Amino acid sequence: MKRMLRPFGLALAVSLLAGCSQQAAFSPQTAQNLDQVLAQSNGFPTTVEIKIRDQKLVTAIELTGAEILSVKMGEVIAGVSSKQARALKAKGFTLVPTQVGGSNYLDNTFDPAYHTYDELLAKLKTLTAANPNIAKLVDIGDTWEKTQNKADRDIWAVRLGTPGKTPVLFTGCTHARELATVELPLLLIEHLIAGNGKNPAITKWLETRDIWVVPMLNPDGHARAAQGLDWRKNANFSYGGAPMFGVDLNRNYGFQWAGVGTSRDPMSPIFVGGAPFSEPETQAIKKLHEQFKFPVSLSYHSFSEIVLYPWAYTDQPAPDQKRMQAIADKLAEAGKYDAHQSSQLYPHAGEHNDYAYHSNGTLGFTYEVGSRRDGFDPPYSRVADFWKQTREGAELLLEIADAPKTKALQ
Ligand SMILES: [Zn+2]
Repeated sequence: MKRMLRPFGLALAVSLLAGCSQQAAFSPQTAQNLDQVLAQSNGFPTTVEIKIRDQKLVTAIELTGAEILSVKMGEVIAGVSSKQARALKAKGFTLVPTQVGGSNYLDNTFDPAYHTYDELLAKLKTLTAANPNIAKLVDIGDTWEKTQNKADRDIWAVRLGTPGKTPVLFTGCTHARELATVELPLLLIEHLIAGNGKNPAITKWLETRDIWVVPMLNPDGHARAAQGLDWRKNANFSYGGAPMFGVDLNRNYGFQWAGVGTSRDPMSPIFVGGAPFSEPETQAIKKLHEQFKFPVSLSYHSFSEIVLYPWAYTDQPAPDQKRMQAIADKLAEAGKYDAHQSSQLYPHAGEHNDYAYHSNGTLGFTYEVGSRRDGFDPPYSRVADFWKQTREGAELLLEIADAPKTKALQ
């Protein structure tokens, strides 16, 4: 049965920020003593559940510097230090130790079956070299570390189909530790290549669409996640903020930049950067939007089993609210996800879909794949399920891309 969204009714959830986990079996340890868990955490943030009676209290939790991992109606999952736990208790919140993925603690168990940057690049080179008539590997920009001569990583896109036809954009790994979000765009690339000439729908899309897939928008951050760090942002340390440096790429876009639900503190997981589009990673995506004015786009994030669409920065409905809800409902079907406007939990500004919708009318969607039990770094074996939950959604966007506003309500 599909779970429908009702503001202040059923559970809404979105993974806003960080977190993660180990691969042990999930077993909420609600009976555990908080002080005990904090003492055993060796300085890592501890994962806690906080009941709230009003969604606005999320902001009060954020103000202590605690990292919000997910929000449901009436319940926040957060990563807290001992100091933040004390501050929250002083404000009257009740904190219960819990787990995300399989752990009380935020870290990253990088299952070696996930692709590293080098492994991904090698695969993309092989795939495109073997299928030059339908797929091309394109360097769309340097990472921040490359601009500083500190690493040699580029942001890669695979351009599939027919240049000049209806453009469609897919992006993964905006947030480094969301490991499955590299794999889903890669699977999409492989799926489209494998279906060429065999699957009539795919063959048609390759003839009538100009498909841009960016599997890893944040290679610098991903390199850190691959080393076991709980890393969300890019690797820009020029603003200070050690050891939590970096810019949240999904708060760095130029529309409503530094508005609600963001931070100017370089230590914050939702740090906006020095200026709108200050980061080379968001600049690369901006250039694509300016050149191609995508009618539809899809971003892969994790976790929470939700489909989101603009606006994120305000509770006001977007002009295409009905159309986007109708499309999001369809995207949500296969995985029995929730589907709703981004801001219905609480507003956050400067993000990708809002920017693209405001600039070009792009109907932009986000998949938050996986559950709290999966966390940010589930075993690689979970990716097959996420692919089943999202493949038809990606295909739907390819199908409607030439006239999404008309086809949305059909
Ligand atoms: Zn994310």
